[in-house]
Amino acid sequence: MLTDHHTHLRPDDDPLDEEALSIETIVPHVAAAMDRGLSHVAITEHIYRFRIAKPAWAHPYWDTQTQWDIDAYWDALSEAKAAGFPILIGIECDWLPSGQEVLVDALRGRPWDLILGSIHWVDEGAVDYDLYSAFKEIDPDALWRGYVDRYTRAALSGQFDVMTHADLPKSFGPLPSTETLDWAFDRIADALEEAGCCVEISTAGLRKAAQEIYPGPSLLERFCVRGVPVVLSSDAHEPENVGFAFDQAVQAALDAGYSEVMEIKGRDRRAVPIG
Ligand SMILES: [Zn+2]
Ligand SMILES: [Zn+2]
Repeated sequence: MLTDHHTHLRPDDDPLDEEALSIETIVPHVAAAMDRGLSHVAITEHIYRFRIAKPAWAHPYWDTQTQWDIDAYWDALSEAKAAGFPILIGIECDWLPSGQEVLVDALRGRPWDLILGSIHWVDEGAVDYDLYSAFKEIDPDALWRGYVDRYTRAALSGQFDVMTHADLPKSFGPLPSTETLDWAFDRIADALEEAGCCVEISTAGLRKAAQEIYPGPSLLERFCVRGVPVVLSSDAHEPENVGFAFDQAVQAALDAGYSEVMEIKGRDRRAVPIG
């Protein structure tokens, strides 16, 4: 059986208040995972939804988002897990070129099941959010170079079990030159091999403009050649997308040459055969 390693309880602009962090919200999420035949679903809210992350970065988006209580999040998920719901307690953590120590501190001292590492920003511009789009500030080649710089440093920081949506910018603006894209994919794959961390095969890309899984076939093949382990994820922000199109994710893994995916629990990984 498979696990969805990356989901959010609510859309990013919805509150993570007491109502959101309740069993009434968690139950439909888990029910959707069960319906899709999954063994577990990881709940991995963004670290920037929580007040504890606010001092990490002075940016208007970060400022408006960091409102909620990480203790309430932890307690709600712990209670659901203790009650026997097949959830994994996780978090999606940005990597920031400065201020990262605030995020590391914020995560310390809790037995997370998994910590996802993400790059959503290049300088002050967002890779995946139109309101602050980095594509308005810099050309696609510069954007991808900046993205790769951050993505590889994040992977090599050793803070993360899984790196997320490896070719995320492809869905939100024009692609760079073929040379830059080849360079980007090689650098990202090399860094994950060196770091020894997993990468997600995310079906979220199918629901975005690129209409292609993250990572696309040529990047996923590079990961496979280098022995980078993969996990499956949907990046659902609502129950109906939990486990979304996992048949296509498994097929993508098989096509790239994988014969197994990883399941992560207690920050430990175990191989699950596919195909
Ligand atoms: Zn993300
Ligand atoms: Zn996410």
